Amino acid sequence: MDFSEEQILRYSRHILLREIGGVGQRKLLSSSVLVIGAGGLGSIVLMYLTGFGIGRVGFVESDNVDLSNLPRQILYTTKDVGRKKIEAAYQRLQDMNSDVKIDVFDKRLNENNAEDIFKYYDLIVDCTDNFESRFLINRLSVKFKKPLISGAVVRFEGNVMLVIPYKTFCYNCIFEEPPNQICIETCSNSGVFAPVVGTIASIMTTEAVKFILGLQTIEGHLLIYNGLLAEMRRIKVKRDENCLVCKNS
Ligand SMILES: [Zn+2]
Repeated sequence: MDFSEEQILRYSRHILLREIGGVGQRKLLSSSVLVIGAGGLGSIVLMYLTGFGIGRVGFVESDNVDLSNLPRQILYTTKDVGRKKIEAAYQRLQDMNSDVKIDVFDKRLNENNAEDIFKYYDLIVDCTDNFESRFLINRLSVKFKKPLISGAVVRFEGNVMLVIPYKTFCYNCIFEEPPNQICIETCSNSGVFAPVVGTIASIMTTEAVKFILGLQTIEGHLLIYNGLLAEMRRIKVKRDENCLVCKNS
């Protein structure tokens, strides 16, 4: 595939990077990523993936834009309040970069529809905002052997991991499935500091793109960032041999 003049200019700052170059940019243009959730994390992940020229970017989202979303969900404007997120996001992303094929899935992901959606993509990026969805997406990614970037933020702290099914630890290896919903912290009941969402989403995109390019990633580590302390830690994690999700390899 030859680049058009416009593409050479558009992607020039990445092509200049030794780690990407023309070869890497072509690889990005022929890759596909599925983002689940177009909220705070998803806004930024989707915009960077589209900006990068990932050939095919899909996203799953069924909510409408709420006024309380706007400080961190920077895909949307005040005019979008009340609109379907998929409609507002699709328009914005397509306007950013028409090289990218944008797929939208106006639904909630579940056990029954996941295989049909996942099959089109090389990599899954979990940008949902609750434990229940993260456990589900982890389970489905392992089941369908799709690499997964999972990220989460609450208050001033966030974490990121890369799950390579049956190779690295999975979400379930380190977090126990919560017994009930009462004691679970989410953005809507605990608050969240918007720029930390941006930091975590940027790390998720960095890892996603490096993974596609075959560069060194955080594979095998849990990365934790605390915005209040300005502290980032990388913790080495091994697979749990008794993990109910990923033990059967
Ligand atoms: Zn596991």
